[in-house]
Amino acid sequence: MSREAFVNGEYTDYSKSYVHIEDRGYQFADGVYEVFAILDSKIVDFEGHIKRLYRSLKELRINSPIQKKSYKFHIKEIIKRNIIKDGNVYLQITRGVASRDFKFPENSKSSIVIIGKNIPSNYYNDNFSKGINVKTTKDIRWKRVDIKSLNLLPPVLAKQYAVDNNCAEAWLLDEEGYITEGSSSNAWIVKNKTVITRPTSFSILNGITRTTLIKSLMKVGYKLAERKFNLRDIKDADEAFITSATQFVMPVTKVNNIKIGNGNVGEFGQKDMPLTL
Ligand code: PMP
Repeated sequence: MSREAFVNGEYTDYSKSYVHIEDRGYQFADGVYEVFAILDSKIVDFEGHIKRLYRSLKELRINSPIQKKSYKFHIKEIIKRNIIKDGNVYLQITRGVASRDFKFPENSKSSIVIIGKNIPSNYYNDNFSKGINVKTTKDIRWKRVDIKSLNLLPPVLAKQYAVDNNCAEAWLLDEEGYITEGSSSNAWIVKNKTVITRPTSFSILNGITRTTLIKSLMKVGYKLAERKFNLRDIKDADEAFITSATQFVMPVTKVNNIKIGNGNVGEFGQKDMPLTL
């Protein structure tokens, strides 16, 4: 099947979709992105992702290349043109094309790219039922990771370090040994029917899945504690998990090869948490 992408106002053949060599995303990671989960051809948490996109754009003083109301149309169009049932849509905006110079260009127009892909609905089933292994590593990211920017080299290195150690995710440690979050997910532990996650600040990305999950906790009889946790808390936890738009609530059964609880997916990890479609 042929795939199509949305590139700066046009729908293009995926295999022939290009951006300019002097796009500031390419040279400086000067841009932002969002990943929307697609379930049954519907966009999950659309409003939350758009709100965060506009916040990221504002923080970096990048103009939206299209009107706010047009985002839904183009994402839906990508879903339709690529016949996406379950999968995700990746949307990236950069400060645009200009001759390489650190300062903002005076007249550049922001670039936008939207790409969609199908992911089989059973793709993560094995991980959901067994749980994933996590490896901890130092958080070497910049000090504004609340902005969903393209500045992703530290999480790339962290994820590869995890994979090299037979783990599916890396949990990042701050200077005091507390977990900030995962390389591409928020990090959580569960103790005595309370789910614990780091409070939002400049040090973590405020996950859309995180927000949705918090809203649903009461319904399933769990309490929330927004506080920092470290390796000692992890060893003492009943359960652990990560959240992200692509993996929703994914159980973690080992951290640094140490079993969490009895090493199996626990009660919370087995729950089907509601999503906002
Ligand atoms: N933290 C980081 C560093 C991430 O990259 C992601 C995934 N985008 C998340 C948290 C989870 O955010 P969301 O639930 O919005 O996907």
